[in-house]
Formats: sequence, structure tokens, C-alpha cells
Amino acid sequence: MTDFTLTFLGTGTSVGIPMIGCDCETCRSTDPRDKRLRSSIWVRTPEAAWVVDTGPDFRTQCLRAGIRHLDAAVFTHPHMDHLTGFDELRRFTIPADAFMPVHALPSCLQVLERMFTYAFNGENRYRGYLKPFPKPVHGPFHLGETTLTPLPVQHGKVECIGYLFTRHGRRLCAYIPDAKSLPQSTLDLIQGVDTLIIDALRHTEHPTHLNFTESLALHALIQPRRTFFTHLQCEIMHSREEPLLPPDVRLAYDGLELHWE
Ligand SMILES: [Zn+2]
Ligand SMILES: [Zn+2]
Ligand SMILES: [Zn+2]
Repeated sequence: MTDFTLTFLGTGTSVGIPMIGCDCETCRSTDPRDKRLRSSIWVRTPEAAWVVDTGPDFRTQCLRAGIRHLDAAVFTHPHMDHLTGFDELRRFTIPADAFMPVHALPSCLQVLERMFTYAFNGENRYRGYLKPFPKPVHGPFHLGETTLTPLPVQHGKVECIGYLFTRHGRRLCAYIPDAKSLPQSTLDLIQGVDTLIIDALRHTEHPTHLNFTESLALHALIQPRRTFFTHLQCEIMHSREEPLLPPDVRLAYDGLELHWE
């Protein structure tokens, strides 16, 4: 049995939706699907639970989703909308006074160590402080029975990856929240994956993010069973935009839960 559950903790772009100072229709919308915290997911399996990225909304996201236990934190890249809630992980290390495994590219770990020096330098070892256990990502690794395969992507100047989740030989899901383009090596890894979750910022072009046209082209190329767009800007109003998409391409929204039996 696969037994893999993925919950969207946030589906918004770096500034979140509503955006400070914006009076557009989406930012004023009362549809809960238009309230987007910073992009992150929570994954649960019988043996292990983890989050991908801990942005500035991480504490709120944990409370809202009722997260009480995490075995690891996994990171895509060191942009602030994916990192700045890092210290909130300490709540998950208290019961056993445990270390928190932190899986990230060496370049991303470097930024975390600079930003959260007090957590990494070994000086504060009181109960209640975050004690990260750095796990540099150099290739596929396992959390319980799930294999996480890093998916290198191009996303501006920063080194950035998504993740492919494979369980018992089934390629369940590729999660790529931030990308402008995917190299052939990544396309090969996710060709025909069950579910693709991908950056689709808005309609207008952007120098470091995929837009709707580009992500629809990737959906057609990769041919997953279904695709979810995430990391959405306020140009995208859920009830207005989703009906215009092909039936196998949907907009993710905060709180949406996907389950594989
Ligand atoms: Zn981002
Ligand atoms: Zn707006
Ligand atoms: Zn980014």
C-alpha cells in the first residue's frame, strides 16, 4: 500500500496573497482559495512526516493544518519565502529534545547556517532551542520508505531543486514550486509522473518563474496524470482562472490534500 498524503500548506508567491497594499479583485476576494500563504507542502506516510520549505508563514501553517510531529525538513532553495520560518521547527524537536534533520543543497545549508547561526553553532543546547542536523543533498535519499530525488531546475541566479517522491517503485509526485525552466535531465526523471505540482506564477512573463503558458507546455510535454499549479500571484483569481484550464490541470489552494492509496 502506497499510503502517501500531501497537504498544501501554502500556494502563494513570495509576498503572499492578499498582498500588502494591493486592492485587486483577488486580494479583496472572500474565496478562501484566494488566500495564499507562502508555498510549502506537508507530507505524511506511515513511517515519516516532513515539510518542504519553511517560509515566513510556517508557524501559522502548522497551527492551521494541525501539524504536531515532523521527522525532517526539506528545502528547495534559499529564497526568503522558503526559509524564514526555519526556527519554528524547534517545536517539533522538544518532546524528545531531538535533532531535526535538515535536507538541503549545500548552498542552501550555507544560507541557513548564516541566517540561523545560533542554531547551528552548537553553543545553545538548552531544551527548546532548535538543534538542526544538516543533511546535504547530493542525490536521492530516503525518508522512511519514500525516495526523494532532487530535481535541478533553473530559477534565476540561485541554485534550486524540486523533489520527486517515489514509493514502492511508483513515481507519485514531482513538487517544483520555483522554476523558470527544467533541464532535460529533470524532464527525463519526471516524464509520465503521476502528479506534477509546478510553479505557474501568472499569465504575464516573469524572468525567474514559469507562467501559465510555459507550465501548460510542460504539462503537455511531461504528460502526468494531472498537474497542479502553485506559487500563484494575485493576477490569478481561483474561480475565474481554474475553469479556463484543461480538466487535468488544476490550481492548488491552501489546505488542499492529495492522497495516494
Ligand atoms: Zn518562492
Ligand atoms: Zn492583488
Ligand atoms: Zn524562489
